[in-house]
Amino acid sequence: MSAQRLDGKACAAAVEEELLERINSLQSHGLEPHLAVIIVGNDPASHVYVNSKVRTCKRLGIRSTHLELPEDTSEDILREHILEMNSRDDLHGILIQSPLPPHMNEGALTDLIDPTKDVDGFHPSNLGRIVQGRLDGMIPCTPAGVMRMLKWANIELSGKKAVVIGRSFNVGMTQALLLAAKGADATVTIVHSRTQNPKEECKDADIVVAAVGRPEMVQPDWIKPGAVVVDVGINRVDDATRERGWRLAGDVAAGVSNIASWISPVPGGVGPMTIAMLMENTVRSAESRML
Ligand code: NAP
Repeated sequence: MSAQRLDGKACAAAVEEELLERINSLQSHGLEPHLAVIIVGNDPASHVYVNSKVRTCKRLGIRSTHLELPEDTSEDILREHILEMNSRDDLHGILIQSPLPPHMNEGALTDLIDPTKDVDGFHPSNLGRIVQGRLDGMIPCTPAGVMRMLKWANIELSGKKAVVIGRSFNVGMTQALLLAAKGADATVTIVHSRTQNPKEECKDADIVVAAVGRPEMVQPDWIKPGAVVVDVGINRVDDATRERGWRLAGDVAAGVSNIASWISPVPGGVGPMTIAMLMENTVRSAESRML
């Protein structure tokens, strides 16, 4: 049996369709949603991600400001940009593309963003709301995208056993909180680098979300037949058979699709959902200005 595809591209397209209506409604009230994306330095992958976010804004009719700063920009200069963006009424979302250069304190700079414009959902007040079970604010885009995709596929979570591999605040830990939150109601185990036997933890899970950053770590014999597997990982691995010399791999091995009932592909799974949720957070922020 081959698993059904948790098709992030199709789900993101459905989200975009709904967003277009909300954006039209905002525009009819004279309000243009506006996202600012800040990138510092020359990390090629970051530029690819930013370009893709800017392209999606364009497609949806969301205005975007793309601020590119050189690698040696001082933290003070970046602070000034953030404070200026916080003060602007015509700007609804501020995103700092990670990673920042090593001389910058990413956490302190995130703390500076107005939480209502924190479309990444990384500000402590937005993350704190999730712990309180208040899910109406800015939720980090990747775990929010996974939840939306599971709902879109009508996958039942209540009372199910879920394992999240990874505990970063931007993906794994927030994912675990969302799966365990009232309404989702899964029973959640978090696996991390000190977990003694990740395979044993996964083997009786109904849902496995892998957000590790280790290519193809999750093997077919880790997965219970019929389980749902979400692959968040995006890893570049050498591949001499490709002209460019590399390919993208997830955290889940290909053979898992013969065991699972559903699996998200890489690429085309969680990635498009992350961008769709960023757009939704931006629209939500713009809508809140109309209240
Ligand atoms: P991260 O901050 O590096 O966190 C990785 C997590 O995996 C950590 O909690 C780490 O545990 C855990 N881990 C590492 N090695 C492990 C092992 N051998 N066994 C069990 N757990 C282990 O990475 P991230 O930002 O969460 O991202 C994870 C992956 O998702 C990456 O491949 C990233 O590129 C991808 N990603 C994709 C999207 C998307 O849109 N599709 C978005 C964000 C991230 P410790 O806490 O103990 O160190």
